[in-house]
Amino acid sequence: NPAKAKYHPIEDACWRTGQEVPYLALARTLELIEGTSARLKMIEILANYLRSVIVLTPEDLLPSVYMCLNQLAPSYESLELGIAETYLMKAIGQCTGRTLAQVRSAAQKCGDLGQVAEQARATQRTMFAPPPLTMRKVFAALKEIANMTGTASVNKKINKIQSLYVACRHSEARYLIRSLEGKLRIGLAEQSVLAALALATAATPPPHDAAAPLLDASKTMSPENFKARVDEHSLIIKTTYCECPSYDRIIPVLLTHGVAALPQHCRLTPGVPLKPMLAHPTKQVTHVFDRFEKEQFTCEWKYDGERAQIHVPGTDKPDFEHAAIFSRNQENNTSKYPDVLRRLPALLKDSVTSCVLDCEAVAYDTTTKQILPFQILSTRKRKDANEADIKVQVCVFIFDLLYLNGHALVRRPLLERRAALRDHLNEKEGEWQFATSKDCSTVEEVEQFMEEAMRGSCEGLMVKALSGDHARYDIARRSHNWLKLKKDYLEGVGDTLDVVVLGAYLGRGKRAGLYGGFLLACYDPTAEEFQTLCKIGTGFSDESLQTFTDTLKQHVIDAPRNYYRYDASHAPDVWFSARCVWEVRCADLSLSPAHRAAIGLVHSDKGISLRFPRFVRERTDKAPEQATSAQQIADLYLAQDTVKNSAAAAPNVD
Ligand code: ATP
Repeated sequence: NPAKAKYHPIEDACWRTGQEVPYLALARTLELIEGTSARLKMIEILANYLRSVIVLTPEDLLPSVYMCLNQLAPSYESLELGIAETYLMKAIGQCTGRTLAQVRSAAQKCGDLGQVAEQARATQRTMFAPPPLTMRKVFAALKEIANMTGTASVNKKINKIQSLYVACRHSEARYLIRSLEGKLRIGLAEQSVLAALALATAATPPPHDAAAPLLDASKTMSPENFKARVDEHSLIIKTTYCECPSYDRIIPVLLTHGVAALPQHCRLTPGVPLKPMLAHPTKQVTHVFDRFEKEQFTCEWKYDGERAQIHVPGTDKPDFEHAAIFSRNQENNTSKYPDVLRRLPALLKDSVTSCVLDCEAVAYDTTTKQILPFQILSTRKRKDANEADIKVQVCVFIFDLLYLNGHALVRRPLLERRAALRDHLNEKEGEWQFATSKDCSTVEEVEQFMEEAMRGSCEGLMVKALSGDHARYDIARRSHNWLKLKKDYLEGVGDTLDVVVLGAYLGRGKRAGLYGGFLLACYDPTAEEFQTLCKIGTGFSDESLQTFTDTLKQHVIDAPRNYYRYDASHAPDVWFSARCVWEVRCADLSLSPAHRAAIGLVHSDKGISLRFPRFVRERTDKAPEQATSAQQIADLYLAQDTVKNSAAAAPNVD
């Protein structure tokens, strides 16, 4: 029981040294986490389980971490589950003597197919109990299922799922089915898994010698010293993961050399995409000067295309064969840009042996030498493009250099990175250009540069710290060291938001036969749920409504998921699985008794909703979990002048 207060990694584990970790040990851990709402307790439960794995079966640590995160490989390998619900229902029905309709109706009532699978399995007797599942075998089977492709693979997948399902005991069935669905939904964010790894390795430091007595630092060190060690491990593990987001690389080093060796062994590496640095929105040019009061900053044009992180590995010379282009989400986009890859050798001067570039790929008219809108770029084929068929040309605007010739530059100030960029790369009009920049020093200069950016078909400006500590590249962070200044913000229309489409209302009148309106949500990564934000019905052309009706029909589900937070008064006519992300604009944000976005963050039982939302465009480059977060919604709400002024005018009740 990993929730036990004084957990002993050997005595309290349900398996012995060298044995494969039973799948039940993991399922039980997930069950305890699911039943807990306190984050620290969740971390402790997971840390206790991980400690047993480190001590008893270290080779199962890697699959354990992946299974807790419901991942099969580093995210850039794009190996994902997400088996269609109907196949899972079929498998459950066939194994338990139920019809598909029965399973479907139970799932509709309960809202969680995992629990339906668990209950169905509990009431079913088997003549010969299959051997208990081990975590390693389940992980390998899930990988095998994810790798099966082609139409003939459906039956093979169902057979494999059935063979796992019939061997499930207790809550194993619940987590198996949820893993297969691609959503674990136990409220365990990646940051908590990293924190649990830090706590586990601080208490039971690897490498563990099986012959030596168990060292339990949580008991032998003073509480202050132990806390300091946990904090140190947490910092090392989280920083390492930012630079090298691959458990395949981190876990083996951690087990053989210990946490302290991570920074030396797991560094930024071409080929392993990092989570990009993100910017904070700013509403007024004067805020730029409030933020950078005493610091040097620069303004760059903010191009409206698709983020492209370009990796060129190499030792003595660049290895263009293995160059790769990753999206904002670390998706491998290399096959989308054969034209960009072909031009890479001309970009790098002879002084470059390897590099990682942060850029924006923008649709470009080579005849008029004009930047084209994002909508044009989005018509390019997403995968396996053939260069001869490419109709939309792109120009890549380079704004950062994160790695050069074997060394990470992320801790160097932007001033140096920018100089290195200009020293080592060749610009070529319409193919490779450095982001247009200006080191402004007055409000008027920024405003004028903003005007120029708009005339140059850009969205606005990015304002970046240029020198000093704040000018490093903050991997994976939405940082105040980068501010985005879009024209919309200045006009007071508000920031655009990226929201998830959860459902639709059937159209009437002119829109009969189509979806006429949609229910939108933000994402709360802490609670791992989608919280409704508003209904939307404006901003669509007739064609776009027809297209969305066709594409969204493929995502219709029978009932809302248990991780959709909504009020019954807004229940749509059809529900969708959370897939599509749309960018929307709104007049402002207001408190709402019926919507659930950011509930509890600004008001204990009211959410926040968007007033006068308008559709802007689809965001195919964003996953639903990367939609605007509940915290961002709360921040945007609180940043509104009307809210700030009324808070200032409120009588002091104390
Ligand atoms: P975010 O990425 O901040 O969540 P988003 O994806 O909706 O938001 P924006 O809010 O429009 O994008 O702004 C950030 C994006 O702007 C970057 O991710 C990058 O793709 C793009 N960009 C364009 N020009 C630049 C530039 N000069 N410097 C940094 N990013 C730029």
